[in-house]
Amino acid sequence: MSIVVQKYGGSSVADADGIKRVAQRIVETRQAGHDVVVVVSAMGDTTDELRDLAEQVSPTPEPRELDMLLTAGERISMALLAMAIAQLGHKAQSFTGSQAGVITDSAHGKAKIIDITPGRIEKAISQGAIAIVAGFQGVSQDTKDITTLGRGASDTTAVALAAALGAEVCEIYTDVDGVFTADPRLVTSARKLDRVSTEEMLELAASGAKILHLRCVEYARRYAIPVHVRSSFSQKEGTWILPDPPEGADDMEQAIIAGIAHDRSEAKITVVGVPDKVGEAARIFEALAEVEVNLDMVVQNVSAQATGLTDISFTLPRDDGQTAMAALARLQSEVGYDRLAYDDEIGKVSLIGAGMRSHPGITARFFAALANAGVNIEMISTSEIRISVVVDEADVSAAVQATHTAFDLDSAEVEAVVYGGTGR
Ligand code: ADP
Ligand code: ASP
Ligand code: MG
Repeated sequence: MSIVVQKYGGSSVADADGIKRVAQRIVETRQAGHDVVVVVSAMGDTTDELRDLAEQVSPTPEPRELDMLLTAGERISMALLAMAIAQLGHKAQSFTGSQAGVITDSAHGKAKIIDITPGRIEKAISQGAIAIVAGFQGVSQDTKDITTLGRGASDTTAVALAAALGAEVCEIYTDVDGVFTADPRLVTSARKLDRVSTEEMLELAASGAKILHLRCVEYARRYAIPVHVRSSFSQKEGTWILPDPPEGADDMEQAIIAGIAHDRSEAKITVVGVPDKVGEAARIFEALAEVEVNLDMVVQNVSAQATGLTDISFTLPRDDGQTAMAALARLQSEVGYDRLAYDDEIGKVSLIGAGMRSHPGITARFFAALANAGVNIEMISTSEIRISVVVDEADVSAAVQATHTAFDLDSAEVEAVVYGGTGR
């Protein structure tokens, strides 16, 4: 029998009714003749609520203990889902990430999967059970401690498990009908995409489109797993993430732009008055690497001739802001810069499309749309198929809307239904 892996996000299992509805759907897949392995997220906003709770007890909780706490969210939903399936007369067994054989490194809060040994899952399905696996968690190979893979990483658990089990497809069930040309919570005229190439989906996910976790798309690409993103609240066909450009599509049909992503999770740090000498930038970025801060955009200004000083700005996850500022403060006397400026009221807007390679003028049209909307650009970065700008956080929504319209992405009918979730 072919194996289908299904992943249900938090909004799909937000309450008892949601769990029962999802259980029904899983049973229908089983009845259609598939072996079913389910990856489930914590109910609703449980993970955020557990984090808030931890913060009330300690502003800087031990990463090991925070992982212990957060993984409890998925243990609740997996057990309830197994019970709901049993209630429908089918066999189901739930497993923690560790029991499912998800082996990781020991980086708490952002662990990487090293290996998957899904023996217990294979045994459960060979005995006719539906296997339910807790998302976004594993066990460290070295320390044997419980780890989490990062926010939103249940998607990655699902695709990695699909690869390890040789599944036919990985279905990602969420609270919208698929991948849209922009976040449906922001752009009501967003259009659903029937297909997106992994190349474009990687850029969308990396640019903040929360619909899929970045590493899940990397897995899908590496192991050629077909991923189908769809709603657990409707029966509509969703979006297929496919390795190749849409079959049979000619240049006329292939959209130049796949979509627009936005990200409000980053902050900007500027190191002001850095002596423009060989090695200074290296010292600054080594210090950030030592404290394991991942940078996104980096810009160095041309130095002022009179002073020989330059400014270096970069963006990074807001969650790492204080760690980075502390690391840079320790460097002040050594590097001899003037001061640090921290801005967490920024947002990033990215335009993504493989058609950019062959169509000139995209940048001009993008920047003109921003200018017409009165949005000032603070930073710019590009890849072959992406242009990103940093703007004031308050301008993100206007920037996304204006760009969506400027590239003729607006849909005539309302397709962008949001069925659930709080968008947190
Ligand atoms: P889940 O809990 O199911 O994992 P997430 O909240 O992580 O759901 O992801 C789904 C959300 O992603 C949607 O509700 C939507 O607001 C957001 N989103 C952002 N960009 C897009 C996009 N381009 N297409 C669809 N949804 C998007
Ligand atoms: N529950 C985790 C989170 O909220 C993992 C996930 O939902 O993918 O980040
Ligand atoms: Mg998600």
